[in-house]
Amino acid sequence: MNLTIPYHLENFIGGNFIGPLSGNFIDNVNPATGAVYGQIPDSGVKDIDLAVKAAKKAFPAWSAVPVEKKFIILNKIAELIDENIEQLALAETNDNGKALWLSKIVDIPRSSSNFRFFATGIMHFASESHHMEDKAVNYTLRQPVGIVGCISPWNLPLYLFTWKIAPALAAGNCVIAKPSEITPVTAFLLGKICKEAGLPDGVLNIVHGTGQHCGEAIIKHPDIKAISFTGSTKAGEHIASIAGPMFKKLSLELGGKNPNIIFNDCNWGKMLTETIRSSFGNQGQICLCGSRILLERSAYENFKKYFIEITKNLKVGDPLNEQSKQGAIVSKVHFDKIMHCIDIAKKEGGTILCGGNAVKLEGRCANGYFIEPTIIEGLTQSCKSNQEEIFGPVVTIQPFDNEEEAVELANATNYGLAAIIWTEDINKANRMAAKVQAGIIWINCWLVRDLRTPFGGIKNSGVGREGGWEALKFFTEAKNVCIQF
Ligand code: NAD
Repeated sequence: MNLTIPYHLENFIGGNFIGPLSGNFIDNVNPATGAVYGQIPDSGVKDIDLAVKAAKKAFPAWSAVPVEKKFIILNKIAELIDENIEQLALAETNDNGKALWLSKIVDIPRSSSNFRFFATGIMHFASESHHMEDKAVNYTLRQPVGIVGCISPWNLPLYLFTWKIAPALAAGNCVIAKPSEITPVTAFLLGKICKEAGLPDGVLNIVHGTGQHCGEAIIKHPDIKAISFTGSTKAGEHIASIAGPMFKKLSLELGGKNPNIIFNDCNWGKMLTETIRSSFGNQGQICLCGSRILLERSAYENFKKYFIEITKNLKVGDPLNEQSKQGAIVSKVHFDKIMHCIDIAKKEGGTILCGGNAVKLEGRCANGYFIEPTIIEGLTQSCKSNQEEIFGPVVTIQPFDNEEEAVELANATNYGLAAIIWTEDINKANRMAAKVQAGIIWINCWLVRDLRTPFGGIKNSGVGREGGWEALKFFTEAKNVCIQF
């Protein structure tokens, strides 16, 4: 397939690649080099109107396509993603700054899995029936919502974009999708792949632009009946304030400040390996990262010693270099935000045990945005650094004395996305799992994902669940039909 990336990206509307109607573009920067290497459409209300028109035209036919046929098309998209993994992974890395090896083993394979999973899932998606003995029978029709909006962030660009689009399409909807303006390229390439796979024109429309202009035009459009959004809690709150009074279906996957709770009786080898990943994977830019490490007091000093030693050896470098364990931070704005958070932690009385500085690389990456993996201790739970999401390679460590205190610390934020628990005592693990306020709990592991499980957060981490039947239910309307005998 020809997946060349033009300097000026275009929107994918009604099966055609077209520029923004305003003629305006936004710079796209490679964060590893700091150089502008392309431009993306600065789309707005008019582009979204055009996309909605195309989607409305496509909807009657797409919603009536039998599931076996939908399976063939969606599965073909998965195959094409797999066939083009090298180009897609390189595009993702150049756009996002993540290590190329990570794009190859996580981001792109997961994107094809998303399509494959929902391609097969829709063939097994059944609805309920409720029998009223000798009176009547009810059955539930699950019909597509219609035109739906999918908005995704920059941290796992194609992975999270497809996590929304695949179930929306499988359920028979037509989609207006907007990737993050910071990482638009793989979304652009997905348009080409969908066309090649035979997805009918107008079924998926990919529109690029900022949250304020393009994203908000999606939220406000009266003909877009459901919004699936992943991003910051702040943007989620704003989106809810617009979509709520319009009675749109809303799925919000938002920020986190996840606790990683470590008891001394855990498997230390596995815990240390996984805690390095859950702290600094993707430069700590994963909503599920365990950014607050809570340690049983008897484990504190030993943990500190080993954890600092391993962290110091994590090589920060050019994302294209196979040896680099840490790539670039996604943008200058985000780099500045993380450095500011480290400053705040120092002002709050935190001690930097390791890292804390920007990294200056030589050669190709001399102007890129790199930060040392950073460990901070000595901060109270109520301080800003332990309350607000940093979303970078920065973790804090705090001791606790018993299970009750561990639960109290774990739950002492407004977030409730994920939690990690390390102990070999299965009863303790289960007690903790029941008490910790989070939508996703990992016991003695991290980021083990089964796409059938409900995915999402509680408290300020979101509303609703993605994954498995939850996603297909979100993207359909349930209609009860009652027949009296
Ligand atoms: P963001 O909220 O700035 O942007 C996310 C997306 O929303 C982008 O496409 C952006 O253009 C768009 N957007 C922003 N404002 C908008 C508005 N007013 N109307 C419509 N669209 C708007 O978030 P980000 O910085 O791209 O991503 C990082 C955040 O995402 C972190 O808080 C992270 O925790 C969260 N996240 C959550 C999950 C999850 O599953 N819960 C997964 C990944 C990332």
